[in-house]
Amino acid sequence: MISDLKYRQHICEIGKKVYEKGFVAANDGNLSIRLGMDEFLITPTGVSKGSLTPEMIVKVDGQGNVLEGELRPTSEMKMHLCVYKERPDIQGIVHVHPPYATAFAIAGMPLDQAIMPESVVYLGTIPIAEYGTPSTNEIPEAISKYVHNHQGVLLENHGALTWGKDLDHAYYLMESLEFTAKINWIAKQLNGDRELSNRHVQKLIEMKTKMGIKGYSPLGVQTPDGIHAMKVTPSPIGELSEHDVNRIAEKVTKNILNELKELLK
Ligand SMILES: [Zn+2]
Repeated sequence: MISDLKYRQHICEIGKKVYEKGFVAANDGNLSIRLGMDEFLITPTGVSKGSLTPEMIVKVDGQGNVLEGELRPTSEMKMHLCVYKERPDIQGIVHVHPPYATAFAIAGMPLDQAIMPESVVYLGTIPIAEYGTPSTNEIPEAISKYVHNHQGVLLENHGALTWGKDLDHAYYLMESLEFTAKINWIAKQLNGDRELSNRHVQKLIEMKTKMGIKGYSPLGVQTPDGIHAMKVTPSPIGELSEHDVNRIAEKVTKNILNELKELLK
């Protein structure tokens, strides 16, 4: 216990942060750290993340057997173990229900738009893993197809999950994920959100590659020269987005050309 005390303390610190940030309510959410290839520390079930103490943290193996601890591990343990199994490089995982990101997960909207440089570079695209009943194998099955090419997922009608090179990294990814969802939501309310052009996104992806950050990034949208960003979601007052207008114009032009061709036959 002494040797892993600092990891237990770290889980308690991050638990406090997610609770105080309002990323979870009551006893929701769970956190874990990899100690070795087949040894993990994970939060217990039924305890608020804001009031964890080091001896409450449970030590388990890769099959979920309890190696050390009085309390039962979180019922969402399978989801953590699946990520560790698929990604031996991952050392820490955060699962919480942050309000804006969870609202996107409920609305069925992935975080896959290039709305801010930081999100494109550091977060990448956050897809939605299809709904699964908590504690069953349905959630691990749903996330396994995204775990290699992304840094986190939204869990459909449930919450969010991030994984990182350590627990701090997973936590900061979760902060960025919630921040991106919140800003996106506010922009949508103001005048509809505008997405960066794919020319600009390409430059960001080059930076990301140089920094050694892996995972899929949003692609951005096609824009005329000199236009940096284009509206992709209509404003709340119901106006059409530029993206929609372009698509309609394209369709109308095509129809007119086809009719002309018929007339000239
Ligand atoms: Zn949950």
